[in-house]
Amino acid sequence: MWGFYAHQQINRIAVFTLPIEMIGFYKHHIQYITENAVNPDKRRYAVEGEAPRHFIDIDVYGDSAIYKMPRYWKDAVEKYTEDTLVVYGVVPWHVNQMRYRLTDAMRIGDVKAILVLSSDLGHYIADANVPLHTTKNYNGQLTGQHGIHGLWESRLPELFSAKYDFFVGKARYIDNPQLEIWQGAVRAHEALDSVLYFEKELTRIIESDKKYAFETRGRNTVQVYSRDFSKKYHEMLNGMVERQMRRAIEMVGSFWYTCWIDAGQPDLDKFRSFQFSDEELKKRKIELEEWKKKKIESRQHENN
Ligand SMILES: [Zn+2]
Repeated sequence: MWGFYAHQQINRIAVFTLPIEMIGFYKHHIQYITENAVNPDKRRYAVEGEAPRHFIDIDVYGDSAIYKMPRYWKDAVEKYTEDTLVVYGVVPWHVNQMRYRLTDAMRIGDVKAILVLSSDLGHYIADANVPLHTTKNYNGQLTGQHGIHGLWESRLPELFSAKYDFFVGKARYIDNPQLEIWQGAVRAHEALDSVLYFEKELTRIIESDKKYAFETRGRNTVQVYSRDFSKKYHEMLNGMVERQMRRAIEMVGSFWYTCWIDAGQPDLDKFRSFQFSDEELKKRKIELEEWKKKKIESRQHENN
């Protein structure tokens, strides 16, 4: 997962890439799409099988596996078995599955499902564009860089994304969504070396008492990467976080658009007045409570 803030930004801004026939509906429901951008992360603790949908530890499959892994689920299962794939993460295939579901929801005009799936799909696409979601060393735990996950995807966007340029142009039709999301994962994975290297390098040259600072969060005092460290790291990455967020935004908008085209361009304007019932809102609240209980073991990220 990106931090909550980045996920919400990605889903929200993706709305503005949409064509005239779609943007009215999505703008009308932009609050839902934005707030619920983080739902899949909340579910990780309450729903069995949710966790592996957010990442792929591609390097467990050997050298250059990011280029060699079969792109389609059936072929990958044949080669590695489903049990193995599920252990090491399935995000590129899950995105494609969600894409089918959203297309179906649009085809049959199930407005509730359109909103839920648009929001969820945006989340998984965003995850697939995070370098640290493509490695078994997802939190720097194998290289003495524990905490780097939250630094890259939460701390940096929170501190610096206000200055990012999020104008990414118009959503485009994606000919092959399965290959497209893999392309996103490949680019993310190619950035991984820099993500790890620059943190290590900066840690080496910065005075050891300058790396971390303490901040108050509610009633707690927590250790965070200092502003100075974060700023220097951000500069060394040379626009990488912005680039990955832009890619995610553009891709989310383009996936939504592609689903809509494949569904036969249904008239979404007639769903504008849709509202979730009190009962559904209550259900969401319960989900939130479940999330707080963290019944299922999952990977630790800074924001959870
Ligand atoms: Zn996630």
